[in-house]
Amino acid sequence: MGRFCARCGRGEAPGSPLVGGLCPECFVSTRRLVEVPERIEVVRCRVCGAVRTRGGRFSRIDAEDYVRGIVEECVAKGRLAEGVERATVSGIELREEEALVGVVGEAAGTVLRQNLRVRLTVEETTCPECFMRKAGSFGALVQLRPGNPRAARLVSRIAGELEGQPGVVEIKREGDGVDVYVVEKSAAARIVGRLKASYVTRVVSTWEGFKYAQRRPRAVFSVRVYAVERGDAVELPGGIYEVVEVSPRAVVLRNPGTGDVFSLDLGSFWRRSPTIRERARGSAQP
Ligand SMILES: [Zn+2]
Ligand SMILES: [Zn+2]
Repeated sequence: MGRFCARCGRGEAPGSPLVGGLCPECFVSTRRLVEVPERIEVVRCRVCGAVRTRGGRFSRIDAEDYVRGIVEECVAKGRLAEGVERATVSGIELREEEALVGVVGEAAGTVLRQNLRVRLTVEETTCPECFMRKAGSFGALVQLRPGNPRAARLVSRIAGELEGQPGVVEIKREGDGVDVYVVEKSAAARIVGRLKASYVTRVVSTWEGFKYAQRRPRAVFSVRVYAVERGDAVELPGGIYEVVEVSPRAVVLRNPGTGDVFSLDLGSFWRRSPTIRERARGSAQP
């Protein structure tokens, strides 16, 4: 004999199985397909909108992505109601004080849909970065300077790329270079590391102390950026060489007298105190 829904008495039928003793309608209106958090707290910067992640850092994700991440992780752990075989998040909608979480589950071959409510508390604050920006305060300075005249445009371009990046408090033009004010030393070191990997650079000095500050120590990275091209001439202690190839890692040079070609990693290259002579524009390549 057929079985009946314990709540409304409707009989079991094809496409309308009993799930945990209930018909699909009664099931989704009385039970949660899957556990989701009761409450999620969002700490958001009132200035830039960054949200504090569980690691404690502020990240430029919006509140919806943050909530989605937490809910999806919880659903993926799969605390499913009895009789439900699987469940996934189908959508999230943030409202004033709650998040509406759409979930889709499956039970006895039937698809079940449900909207679950998660209480939301949003705390507004000012993230450390915006706080420092407001106070005009910073923990580290990256001084970018063109290493050769042609690199001036490259430095401007890099400054544009750094604008608004995590940790960057302010960018100020300084002569033909730029000064990049950064929240803290580790963020500045990351920026310098990325520059070293992408461009021909030379870190002239790193300095740490109380420069520019009354109280907090500041780190200063002085970085020259070069725009060296194939065909440029380089003066080294041994003579003048022609640039065959250049990358953020090495410079390949040719001795025009002997035709010998050799490669120097950037460290060895800078140790030889090279003078770079840019190839004149339009000059013929040999
Ligand atoms: Zn029912
Ligand atoms: Zn902020």
